[in-house]
Parts: sequence; C-alpha cells; structure tokens
Amino acid sequence: MFTDKAKIYIKAGNGGHGSMSFHREKYVAAGGPDGGDGGKGGSVIFITDNNLSTLLDFKYKKKYVAENGRDGSSARCNGKSGENLYIKVPVGTIIKQDGKVIADLNSKDSEFVAAKGGNGGWGNCHFATATRQAPKFAKLGLEGEEKELELELKLLADVGLVGFPNVGKSTLLSVISDAKPKIANYHFTTLVPNLGVVNAGEGESFVVADIPGLIEGASQGLGLGHEFLRHVERTRLLIHVVDVSGIEGRNPIEDFDTINNELKSYNADLESRLQIVAANKTDIITDQKMYDDFKTEIENRGYKLFEISAATKSGVRELISYAGSCLKDIPIPEFEIEKPETKIYTYEKETPFTVTNDNGVYVVEGDYIKKLLGSCNFEDYESLSYFQNSLRKNGVIKALEDKGIKEGDMVRMYELEFEFIY
Ligand code: GDP
Ligand code: MG
Repeated sequence: MFTDKAKIYIKAGNGGHGSMSFHREKYVAAGGPDGGDGGKGGSVIFITDNNLSTLLDFKYKKKYVAENGRDGSSARCNGKSGENLYIKVPVGTIIKQDGKVIADLNSKDSEFVAAKGGNGGWGNCHFATATRQAPKFAKLGLEGEEKELELELKLLADVGLVGFPNVGKSTLLSVISDAKPKIANYHFTTLVPNLGVVNAGEGESFVVADIPGLIEGASQGLGLGHEFLRHVERTRLLIHVVDVSGIEGRNPIEDFDTINNELKSYNADLESRLQIVAANKTDIITDQKMYDDFKTEIENRGYKLFEISAATKSGVRELISYAGSCLKDIPIPEFEIEKPETKIYTYEKETPFTVTNDNGVYVVEGDYIKKLLGSCNFEDYESLSYFQNSLRKNGVIKALEDKGIKEGDMVRMYELEFEFIY
C-alpha cells in the first residue's frame, strides 16, 4: 500500500519552571536568591531521509511529542533541556498547516523546525536588583507549540508514464526499473503511483513514476486519475505510452489526444512538458495501416516516437537512453512555496489578552495573564510591583485605559480582584 498523505499531531516540549529559592548555608544569615532556570522544551524537527519513499509510517504513528524541559532548582541549578524530536520524512514531503504549505522539504538533508519548544522560566536569581534583593517569585516555563499537520508527498519523479489504462505502463516500469508494480489485464489495476529508479547507463539514473488511471474526465474528478494527476506536476518529461496493437478496438490517435486534453485541463503547464511517445504492444499489431498512420501523424506533429514492446523488451533500451539524454538538458524545476514562519516565541512580546467590561468590573483574561498570575507572589511587595510593571509593559494598563477605566474601578483577573490605582 502506498500513502502519500498523512495527518499527524506534533507537540514540542514545555519549558521547565524557574525555581524560587534562597541560598542557605550554616552561619550565613540571609542568602541571596539562587533559584535556577527551567530547561527549554525539546522542539519537533522534520528531517529528510533518502532511504524513505513513502509516508506509510505516519499511517500507524500519528502523535509526536518532544520532551519537556526540567524545572530549575536551588543553588542556581538550571533544569535540563528536553531532547529535540526528529521526524524522518522522504525527500519531497510537503508540510501543511490549515491547508497552507509551511515547508517543502525537497532536498536531501532538509530540516524544518515545525514546533518550537517552550523556553524555560527564569529562576528568581534573575530578578534580583539593587532594590529588590530577595525576589520571592520565579517564572513559569512556556508551553511548547502544538500543531495538527498534514504531510503530503509529491513524488519527485523525473519522468512520468502517462497513457490510457491497460496500455502497458506498469509493465514498462517493471522492465525498466526495480519497481514491482501490480500488473493485470484489467483497467485501473494501477490504483497507486509506483516509483522506479531507472538506470540509463553510464552511471545515469532517474526516477520514473507510473501515473495511474488517467481517463477522460479525470481532471474534473471523474475516475480514479484525478487524485494522482498532481503527481505528474513535478516530472520533467513525460513518456506517453500508447497501445498501438488495436487489440482493444480503439484508435491510437484518439487515445493520444484524449490523454493530452486530460493533462492540459488538469494543468496547462503539462501541455508544454516534453513528451516522448512509446508506441507499445508492437509485438501484437493487428492493423498495420492504423499503426503506420499513427506513426506518421505523431512524427508530423514533431514528437519523437519509439516502437516498443514492454512484453518482449524490444525497443525499450533505446527509449530509456533517449529519455536519459533529454533529462540532462532539462533543469529540475524549483517550486514556489510560502516561506515558513520564523517567528520566535517570546513571553514578553506575545501578549494575547482580552479586556471586557462586566457590569463595571474590568475583566482581563488570556494565556499571558494566567502565566503572569502563576509567576507572581502577591504577598510579596516586590513581586507585586513586578506584576504591575509587567502589566504596563505589555499594554494591559493601556488597554484598560482605552476601555475607560478610572481610579478606584474594580479589575478582575481570574481569582484576583483589585482596585485600579495609578
Ligand atoms: P497499465 O494499465 O497501462 O499499467 O497496463 P499494464 O502494464 O497493467 O498492462 C496491461 C496488459 O497489457 C497486461 O496484460 C500486460 O501483460 C499487457 N502488455 C503490456 N505491454 C505489452 C506488450 O508490449 N505486448 C503485449 N502483448 N502485451 C503487453
Ligand atoms: Mg498500471
């Protein structure tokens, strides 16, 4: 079975909490703050691996969670950072979030940090200042990012085999490469694209994809071909396999045009892609004149035509070495992708909170507020002033003023209620 789409859940590790601690030693009266920082959470990082060619693994394992950072402790001991979690994917994997491409890992050794680990919280030793010598608070670690992602593997085939069902595409692929596609004398036997590495001699090799089920109407979503047509998009060259034996009672020129119309309506670019015609099943031609007409017509249109028989392998080597020589002159296309976000998650800058007026009480809510509350000790004067400064720095005071708050009005932040004083 071949999978070229997968949905997974990833979560980076949370940062460890900062420690609130004071130096203690015999005969030392008031030791300074010595709470260490929490460790950083591990990130989730995608990395390409040349040995993989499918997303099958993700069919079975769908949850990927990186390690949390450890909490800081006394004596300025910083918590250990969480290990990064590396997820191996095949070259060519596209990562999407909410339908948007956030990474396109189309080369060897590509890396993409998909979820950043949360920073560790600072221990109280960081908060000591000349006037605040005994800070009784430390910061909580931040949560690691979590995401639902879709992985997509567009085959990085150099050559696509296109053509009507049953014309011999799978057979051809099986004789030119090490791929072992299912072969049966039945339309639509090829439900999944097969990839094969083809050795074109002199150390030259390229990847061929057998593009299944191209039938009339496929680009409108009819038939089985539509899902797979997108695999054709990246190929640099198409080998158009046509059954010229006449054994199925169809005219090869009509077949040829039908498939080309199909390609064109799927993606106009495909029309201009170099196409080599493989006239197949020449070992069982039933109507020589029909074949001759086909050959003349195709060559008049400027295509290079090879007479082959995938069954007896006649003409196959010539076809392959010609395809290999064409590829040398066609550069690998670069695909535009939306650049991944490189936003660094910081506590101070990201201040999502809301201010609402609940019958004269100003209610402030949000993740930032929760974290701030968690990191403050309201019994402690310094911590309280740190809290106030933080509110000011992060625009909460401004937001309250914008909402029309006046001295003496009540403010509620979760459990905490207080009077607003400048
Ligand atoms: P696909 O649907 O295009 O992938 O076609 P397949 O490769 O599955 O082939 C369909 C049928 O045609 C199978 O029965 C093959 O054995 C047969 N076939 C393929 N190529 C040749 C050929 O060159 N000569 C003959 N006689 N039969 C062939
Ligand atoms: Mg097939």
